[in-house]
Amino acid sequence: MSRTATSQRTDRKLWKNLHENVQLTVDRYHEILNPGPPQDTTVLEDITATTAHVCSILADAGIRGKTVRTVGGAWSLSSVAASPDIMLGTRNLNLWFPVAAGSMDGASRHDSDRIHYMQCGCSVGEVYRRLELRGYTLPTSGASNGQSIAGAVSTGTHGSAFAYGSIQECIVGVHVIVGPDPSVDCILLERASDPVVSADLAQRLGARLVRDDEQFNAALVSFGSMGFVMGYIVNAEPLYHLESWRRVVPYNGLVNALMTTLDLDLLPMIVPSLQVDPTRVWHVEVVLNPHDAGSAYLTVMERWTTARPKSIAQPHKRSTPGDDLLNVVGRLTATLPAAAGAATTALLGATFGNRGPVVATPYETFTAPDVRGAALSVEIGVPLDRSYDAVELLKSCPEIKHYAGIIACRFVKASAATLAFTQFPITCTIELPGVKNTRTQKFYDAAFAKLFASDIPVTAHWGQIYPIGSDILAAYGSNLDRWLAARESLLSGPMRSVFGHATTPRGISPGD
Ligand SMILES: Cc1cc2nc3c(=O)[nH]c(=O)nc-3n(C[C@H](O)[C@H](O)[C@H](O)COP(=O)(O)OP(=O)(O)OC[C@H]3O[C@@H](n4cnc5c(N)ncnc54)[C@H](O)[C@@H]3O)c2cc1C
Repeated sequence: MSRTATSQRTDRKLWKNLHENVQLTVDRYHEILNPGPPQDTTVLEDITATTAHVCSILADAGIRGKTVRTVGGAWSLSSVAASPDIMLGTRNLNLWFPVAAGSMDGASRHDSDRIHYMQCGCSVGEVYRRLELRGYTLPTSGASNGQSIAGAVSTGTHGSAFAYGSIQECIVGVHVIVGPDPSVDCILLERASDPVVSADLAQRLGARLVRDDEQFNAALVSFGSMGFVMGYIVNAEPLYHLESWRRVVPYNGLVNALMTTLDLDLLPMIVPSLQVDPTRVWHVEVVLNPHDAGSAYLTVMERWTTARPKSIAQPHKRSTPGDDLLNVVGRLTATLPAAAGAATTALLGATFGNRGPVVATPYETFTAPDVRGAALSVEIGVPLDRSYDAVELLKSCPEIKHYAGIIACRFVKASAATLAFTQFPITCTIELPGVKNTRTQKFYDAAFAKLFASDIPVTAHWGQIYPIGSDILAAYGSNLDRWLAARESLLSGPMRSVFGHATTPRGISPGD
């Protein structure tokens, strides 16, 4: 008997994102369910059944002229995952399989052992765990790993892999539904320049194999506007270990030079007490307290083979070098209404001191802790050599005085994704996680206004709070037109409306 997918439908659902700064009533919320119960022998058949079910919802949306948004973990602080019409929940879509050697394209340059299919709703933590049990892992991710893999990729989630890029860089196939007809609208999209799986595997997933570099690069970071992503073909890395440490260091010219050049030979001068191997450094982060001009919190991770023994886990009160800053700042709510500066300084002093070196796998380093407290966050992208200028400009906003939050700089290599916010050869991502209150929002508004009035090219993380409009799109240049053209070639006119959204580029609103 054939297996069918279903969804639990809730009408007029009050929907909130994780941090509850985006809330709306959704006309129809569908929690999509794979056929059940799960069984190893029917994974491909079940994924095919679920694509057919999603197609039926898209057909209905098209007929009724409604918009559709797919939501993953709901971790985005922007409204990028929200629609008042129809929302599709994907948290239960977490099937996966390793791609067999026989299912690879004959021309593929990839080692099939590294190639895995992950359905959209798998959490990043789940992807890590599954891969690490097989001796593989992800090259990079965000600091916390509770997002869904599709949500993380769709907004360009990143860590600080300045020599590698963001999470989407490991995606080599996008299984995407672009319309209502299962026979033509389910696509397994790869780069023409990088064939990976066979047409036969695509067919067994109920998809057509399409190879096109422009469409693929556009679809990677497309924030739900280019169809429903059913799953990804992931190119995993052989397992490695990260040796991580954090040190409180003087915020001086050396740190500024590191932040604007990433000259790793500066590290031994900044932290003379530690042995640093610049050739192994994989991740650098500088956290600043805007209320303490004298100190910086420097986190460095070196990449080692698994021959480097792991540390014995030790319970600790302080956050780990891989801990997420939004969660750290979330604790501030407990200490307010003390003055913003005093509260921030007290929090960092209590939780964010020296730590490590600790050797662990990436999954063990970047955990998925419970999200603490009510926080907001903005993340700005600027070219590496303008990072100091941008930070100084932020610090010059009078509103920063009442900002209970931090300034965190990470460094990410340019992404292949057309609209990744990590656009520059190396982007310095400046994250501003702050307490959820109007003073934080006022600081964000002032910060963006100052940046837009300056000559610093600026982008913003699609999954964090950003001002909608042309200013934030200016730095993308011709990539914006390339992305729009790719979208037009992938989606029919009616489906461009269905997947339209007010927050995505240049009038891609429901009526475009
Ligand atoms: C505690 C916390 C820590 C964070 N840490 C980091 C970090 O270290 N680095 C970083 O870069 N970001 C970080 N972020 C931001 C976060 O990674 C992004 O917002 C990410 O998009 C959230 O993933 P999600 O699964 O929750 O996606 P959602 O917020 O649910 O959705 C994000 C986007 O993806 C789209 N989408 C989701 N699933 C699908 C699908 N199946 N098909 C098509 N489109 C889909 C949605 O429509 C939406 O546009 C953090 C956020 C929080 C709350």
